[in-house]
Amino acid sequence: MSKLKLVNIDKSYQTGNSYLNVLKHISLEFRENEFVSILGPSGSGKTTLLNIIGGLDHYDLGDLIINGNSTKHFKNSDWDAYRNRSIGFVFQNYNLISHQSVLQNVEIAMTLSGVSSSERKARAKHALEEVGLKDHIDKRPNQLSGGQMQRVAIARALVNNPDIILADEPTGALDSKTSTQVMEILKDVAKTRLVIMVTHNEDIAEAYSTRIIRFLDGEIQSDSDPLTSSGDEQHKQVSKAKKRNKTSMSMFTALSLSFKNLLTKKGRTILTAFAGSIGIIGVALVLALSNGLSNQLDVMQGDTLANFPIMIDTNEQVVDFEQMGPPNQDESDDYQEYPEETIIYRYDNSDSLSAHTNFLTDDFLDYVEQMEAEIPEAIDNISYTRGVEVNLLAQTNDQVVKFETISQMTMPGMANMTGDSVYWQEMPTDQDFILEMYDLIGENSRLPEASDEIALVIDSYNRISAEFFDKLGLNEDEESYEVTDFIGETILKVVPNDQYYLEDENGFFTAANPKTYEALFEEETGKDLVITGVLRVKEDAATSYFSEGFIYPEALTNYIVADAQSSEIAQAQEEADIDVLTNTPFQNDDAKEQALIRLGAITTPTGIDIYPTHFEGKDEIKAYLDDYNAGLDEEDQVVYNDLAEMLGDIMTDMINTVTYVLVGFAAISLVVSTIMIGIITYVSVIERTKEIGILRSVGARKKDISRVFNAETLIVGFVAGSFGVLTSYLLIFPINNVIEQLTDIADVASLNMVSSLVLIVGSMILTLIAGVIPARMAAKKDPVEALRTE
Ligand code: ADP
Ligand code: MG
Repeated sequence: MSKLKLVNIDKSYQTGNSYLNVLKHISLEFRENEFVSILGPSGSGKTTLLNIIGGLDHYDLGDLIINGNSTKHFKNSDWDAYRNRSIGFVFQNYNLISHQSVLQNVEIAMTLSGVSSSERKARAKHALEEVGLKDHIDKRPNQLSGGQMQRVAIARALVNNPDIILADEPTGALDSKTSTQVMEILKDVAKTRLVIMVTHNEDIAEAYSTRIIRFLDGEIQSDSDPLTSSGDEQHKQVSKAKKRNKTSMSMFTALSLSFKNLLTKKGRTILTAFAGSIGIIGVALVLALSNGLSNQLDVMQGDTLANFPIMIDTNEQVVDFEQMGPPNQDESDDYQEYPEETIIYRYDNSDSLSAHTNFLTDDFLDYVEQMEAEIPEAIDNISYTRGVEVNLLAQTNDQVVKFETISQMTMPGMANMTGDSVYWQEMPTDQDFILEMYDLIGENSRLPEASDEIALVIDSYNRISAEFFDKLGLNEDEESYEVTDFIGETILKVVPNDQYYLEDENGFFTAANPKTYEALFEEETGKDLVITGVLRVKEDAATSYFSEGFIYPEALTNYIVADAQSSEIAQAQEEADIDVLTNTPFQNDDAKEQALIRLGAITTPTGIDIYPTHFEGKDEIKAYLDDYNAGLDEEDQVVYNDLAEMLGDIMTDMINTVTYVLVGFAAISLVVSTIMIGIITYVSVIERTKEIGILRSVGARKKDISRVFNAETLIVGFVAGSFGVLTSYLLIFPINNVIEQLTDIADVASLNMVSSLVLIVGSMILTLIAGVIPARMAAKKDPVEALRTE
């Protein structure tokens, strides 16, 4: 039975509008081992015939019978396997892969058929030995002579032990001496298998082959030793044929092919990777910065902010700043900014304030009291604010003045301000909390503890507003003071209500006036307050808790509350329906209540500060307070403020905004570099077209070809990613330096291992995506055309 049989093969090419009929009804049969020469002039269709026999090109009509099997229904994978196992190609121009060593060039066909690495090497060495190239296996093809290169090609064709060797003008580019060497080898090969050689050299054909087929214009002119099998032989369909193992290229082979290729153009690869890395550097730095900033924020919240109290005040006013300026959405149609007309509108400004009045009912106060038993580990301290007014006199420069502690300021739109203390604040009981944020300045400076002790808070420039000194009666005669002017001094005195408010015969009261201040200050009763220390906010404090002025301990509050509560004016006011101080009726019940609170008759707190022990404790406290509100009507609910969270939120917002902007920029550079890598891969496909053809000729599937280019982009992506991450690590040092100079915060930017890995993988994925289209183009290339390119 014949090895190979062509039945009425027709092949034509379309060029423009015309068809060129290159092969016309070719019927041929070949023996299992013979040396066939196909002789014919250039352009007669010899190469086309050979390519069709070798499965590189496909016939239009007819059939190619291999080992008695029709190839009419061959799938791509069948052709690939056929080329890989049964066919060895030898081309006129050798078609070696220039960036691979001689040995690797011979190995390539075996890497596709899944031969183990050691066997591959051994077999390739053996094949090279057979063609007399034992000493050249590690050379590059361009270090060999033409004859040597052709022998490498023969070794490559033989190494998979194929049944058929197809040689297309193998000596066409060789001188006669080397031609002889090559022909001797082929003649030897033909002893055990079928060799079909195309040539236009009569002498060579005559000298070496056992059969000469003359070819002209796509037709057989003569055949010196024809073979015809019995005409109606049944040809099995491929399904019944012995299944060939499918060829496939391992990712490792693809990677090593592409790696070697990239090594031959180091300069460009480095440039590409560098360009690709710019986007990665951008993203890495943004990540590092935002990572660092949010870490910083976490640390801050964990340390300092965690200690900030959860605050509950009677008037919890949530100002919606966004609503404050322009009219709200539904109104924006009614109002126009900078209108032409001269009309003045009347509008409701309460829209911009969502005020909530907290009623600190006994129920709620009990509930809060209960909290200390329920979640003791979460609570550091609960402190209550009283609305009671304190009568403070200040003595400086031999002059006694009233030290007002109630703000005279009212904010627009904020109705019913209870009066915030200015320059006069109660301290949290947690001394550590204070000392974490504040330094004690001056000798013997310490925090006040007893009910007759206070301290002074200055700002980070050692300043206190002039208004404060004015209030103390220290007028503009001095620009600055010494810390020692204050520490240990007694310049403030608390005057009891019963001395401050004097009752007349009608049961009404008058407050002390400047004329009596000096005498009151000299009284034995009351409480002289000694300044124990001066506090200044720490350099690295996240935020300052106090504003400038005096701070006092809870013990003093307790003294003031107790004094006020038992005072005559407080008791008198409780019974009277009119204001006992002004002798005028109250405008409403609320006004009376306010007066009673001020005078100390009502000791219900006006505010509660709950200090958590740690950050998680804060959540527990909030959950506990939320439980109280659950199920209550909105007006009965008690809302709280978490200053730390507000601060944290503002900072988080800022960080996020900055991050988004930076990410935007980084993303643009990523897109640009991705497109660039796509273009460069495309260029690489063009450059490696020949290699694609060679790989296809030894049995590589389309998939394998795209794999080769995907491997290339993966390598570029990996190099770009690694380079980018490395550069980012280096850039972080100067960046942190600059940030430290500007903000005093050290080591803000930090890139962790996980992000680095994600970035490298991301870079590989991006370049892979960028290379998908070029790689697919490469896979689709027609192997015959690919081989034709130079
Ligand atoms: P030979 O190898 O005998 O020199 P070929 O088989 O290479 O001849 O080419 C035979 C004819 O087919 C030539 O005229 C050539 O131009 C034409 N031909 C070959 N390949 C193609 C193709 N892909 N498209 C169009 N024409 C082609
Ligand atoms: Mg040719």
